[in-house]
Amino acid sequence: MADPKGFLKHTRAEAPKRPVDERLGDWHEVYAALSAEERNEQVSTQASRCMDCGIPFCHSGSAGCPLGNLIPEWNDMVRRGRWQAASDRLHATNNFPEFTGKLCPAPCEAACVLAISPDAGGAVTIKRVEETIAEVSWENDYVTPQVAEEQTGKRVAVVGSGPAGLAAAQQLTRAGHEVTVYERDDRIGGLLRYGIPEFKMEKSALDRRLAQMRDEGTKFVTGCEVGVDLAVEELRARYDAVVLAVGALRGRDDTSIPGRELEGVHLAMEHLVPANKECEGDGPSPISAKGKHVVILGGGDTGADCYGTATRQGALSVTQLDNYPQPPTSRDDERSPWPTWPYVLRTYPAHEEFGERKFAVAIESFVGDDEGHVRAVRLRHVKVQRDENGRRQVVPISDEVEELPCDLALLAIGFEGVEHMPLLDGLGIELTKRGTIGCGSNWETTAPGVFVCGDAHRGASLVVWAIAEGRSVANAVDAHLTGASELPSPVHPT
Ligand code: SF4
Repeated sequence: MADPKGFLKHTRAEAPKRPVDERLGDWHEVYAALSAEERNEQVSTQASRCMDCGIPFCHSGSAGCPLGNLIPEWNDMVRRGRWQAASDRLHATNNFPEFTGKLCPAPCEAACVLAISPDAGGAVTIKRVEETIAEVSWENDYVTPQVAEEQTGKRVAVVGSGPAGLAAAQQLTRAGHEVTVYERDDRIGGLLRYGIPEFKMEKSALDRRLAQMRDEGTKFVTGCEVGVDLAVEELRARYDAVVLAVGALRGRDDTSIPGRELEGVHLAMEHLVPANKECEGDGPSPISAKGKHVVILGGGDTGADCYGTATRQGALSVTQLDNYPQPPTSRDDERSPWPTWPYVLRTYPAHEEFGERKFAVAIESFVGDDEGHVRAVRLRHVKVQRDENGRRQVVPISDEVEELPCDLALLAIGFEGVEHMPLLDGLGIELTKRGTIGCGSNWETTAPGVFVCGDAHRGASLVVWAIAEGRSVANAVDAHLTGASELPSPVHPT
């Protein structure tokens, strides 16, 4: 039974961050390293704010956790200091709680009943509780390899090693199948490895999970593009089932902007991937922001990742542009009605460190120098509206043009779906209108025995959805191979 008055005794307190000067001197995570005792005490206090609601919106429903994380239960266990029980309960629904604890924008917190009004002190810090349970689990060896008791003799290939592929692979390995994960890049992890900067999640958190998976029996092959380095016929001959977890990495471009072709104008991932490789020790990034005026188009997560990366690379200035007006800064605003997704300004630690954000603006053109390199961007003030067909339009609202210096422009305006790959041609799979891979109600694509999950199916989305889809596709593949499955299936195909 939760403490029903906990939220009256304690207000929401975020995890303390390191001073800005200190964190800009390295690439480590932005949060301060506390002693285990101090951290656990702070987090127990925060967990004690949970009311164990009769209808816990955090836990499920359209706005809550897609994994069905048993949030009120582990909040209460943490409040009581029962960390191992909390670890068991958390790992029952989430293979990688440290990934979600560090990276997920927390729809659970947006849905928390305590987020109704500032008078309630703010949502329970569910993410921090989740991440701390995971850390305590590693520190105390609660996380151990779960080796299957029996092998089924069935073989499964998982193509792609992001969070969806890893979750599917771990579930299927634990169910007794022989699972091999194929990754075209040189290291395992997909977006977790080369899309997420070190200051958001240090890669040691990924590596220890991969070690756990190897100990459980999952095999990994890197530097192998299936469909090129491994022929589709060979793939089909070797495996009883295939899971496509290839992501949705086709970056949205806007070639209609005059000057897009100039040198120094890049898609966001062209900046982030080599920067993350440099952090892995692979040598200097060819697209560094050092000594440059950086302009980022797009106000979302990827833009914020570019922002923090450019700052750490030593940019002279960083400006992030958003078409939309600045949202309210708190939920105590009539434009931000609970329980909808909080229509409030989302800030990231990177925004506290350096640079500025500009709202209700759009790029009119990139301006080049005599050598064909971008030297400035021209901006117009805009509003966003819908045309008669409901399509989004960005409309200028004044004739005034503002010019900003710019040596490096980064387009972080979203992803358009799955990249073209010979594997899909070889399997005879066509993309949907949304650029994703379609499937039936059991996650099976139009190619028999080939399943899909994660961004490749859903389109670019949250890490928590990727893990949820990976777990669900594992249930479907297990049932396909054995006739029935007891693996959990938290979500259904869209
Ligand atoms: Fe606890 Fe908030 Fe979930 Fe209610 S909605 S059970 S207060 S975390």
